[in-house]
Amino acid sequence: MTTHDTHTLRELDHAHYLHPFTDHKALGEKGVRVMVRGEGIYLWDSEGNKVLDGMSGLWCVAIGYGRSTMTKAISEQIDTLPFYNSFFNTTTVPAVNLAHRLSQLAPPGFKHVFFTGSGSEANDTNVRMVRRYWDLLGYPDRHVIISRHNAYHGSTMAGASLGGMSGMHEQGGLPIPGIVHIGQPNYYESGAGMTREEFGVQAASWLEKKILDVGADKVAAFIAEPVQGAGGVVIPPDTYWPEIRRICDKYGILLIADEVITGFGRLGRWFASEPYKPDLITFAKGVTSGYIPLGGVMVSDRVADVLIRQGGEFNHGFTYSGHPVACAAALENLRIIESENLVGRVAGETGAYLKQKFTALADHPLVGVAETSGFVAGLNLVKRKAENVHQQVAFDADLAVGMVCRAHMFNNGVIMRAVGDRMIIAPPLVMTHAQIDEMVGLIRHALDLTLEEVK
Ligand code: PLP
Repeated sequence: MTTHDTHTLRELDHAHYLHPFTDHKALGEKGVRVMVRGEGIYLWDSEGNKVLDGMSGLWCVAIGYGRSTMTKAISEQIDTLPFYNSFFNTTTVPAVNLAHRLSQLAPPGFKHVFFTGSGSEANDTNVRMVRRYWDLLGYPDRHVIISRHNAYHGSTMAGASLGGMSGMHEQGGLPIPGIVHIGQPNYYESGAGMTREEFGVQAASWLEKKILDVGADKVAAFIAEPVQGAGGVVIPPDTYWPEIRRICDKYGILLIADEVITGFGRLGRWFASEPYKPDLITFAKGVTSGYIPLGGVMVSDRVADVLIRQGGEFNHGFTYSGHPVACAAALENLRIIESENLVGRVAGETGAYLKQKFTALADHPLVGVAETSGFVAGLNLVKRKAENVHQQVAFDADLAVGMVCRAHMFNNGVIMRAVGDRMIIAPPLVMTHAQIDEMVGLIRHALDLTLEEVK
């Protein structure tokens, strides 16, 4: 028997549902919010409240909710063939077509894809794949992967180890061996006394230092998100990525771009990392707009040639690698993104409009910095503003101002995420100018309410 009654749902949720990344003590007191419907960029909860989804679900619903052609593509595939695997010399029609389509969208030099069920599984795949690559080339000692503090690369053992979230490392004895971290290119945190450009070069130099500490002959790869998402939309200085590529080249190490958030148009390119020529690209989320789970790794010719020609069999795979329904959903989702020119719009008019409107929030008394990159954006809540961002005064962490603000956002019609006192959004790529105006208006109203509460 299923129920739709909110009170009963809350009780059942409390009794049975162990949620990801949720403080269950706090949840018990408040009760969970039950989302029941989505249309376009809006969601409705079980009590009839409407909210504008500034986070695209969890950074994924690029094309918005309720797209009828997605329903059609998914249900037709379920009718035709709901499941078959890709192991042992078999494949399915949508899996092949999606592999082909992705090879067309990926940067030059990427002809292969390995499918997984999620971004975490894709990053686990990366760990095994880069170690296999170096083994096959006769360098089994090259097994260390360098990542960054405050990065998010998933929740599996390898994904959470690659990630640099101390709260995750504290639980379960992470990181696993062979994964080390360097600082993140967070100008506001670490760039005092420098221009953004100078700081970008310095932050990249931490990679070279770590390579030399570990020993260049032991390092397999460096992994990073083009813009750190879950860490708080950390937008690196323009000088950072070219330096990272130069350093990877200097020591011959592989560069893995984790594009689980940034892939498929969010930063105004199909793959944001294209200019700095990665060797592997992790994707998930936007590939299906979250309608059905799917992830994977785009594999460059450099890696694929070794895996295929020298390796033969890669003893790795998931039941749902290349799931035909997920692949059918991805094909339709990518068709929509292309036919509505969402990538071009984010790179052009809607991206520019979001930047203009969102950065104007910096005039609010609570906002120290407001910035965007494509269709991700973040603002810093500060106790005292100053022109020099490094002289701004932060709120006492115990006040949890970000969480106060997040509650005002949610209760007043817009979903915005808090990472400490940094408020972030990653709205659906289909947003119109009028919807951007509406979203920024709702954000400003919630900032006013936050100011009243914390001043
Ligand atoms: N990598 C990045 C950059 C992510 O943001 C995420 C999820 O937010 C993941 C990997 C993990 O993806 P999933 O939750 O699908 O396992």
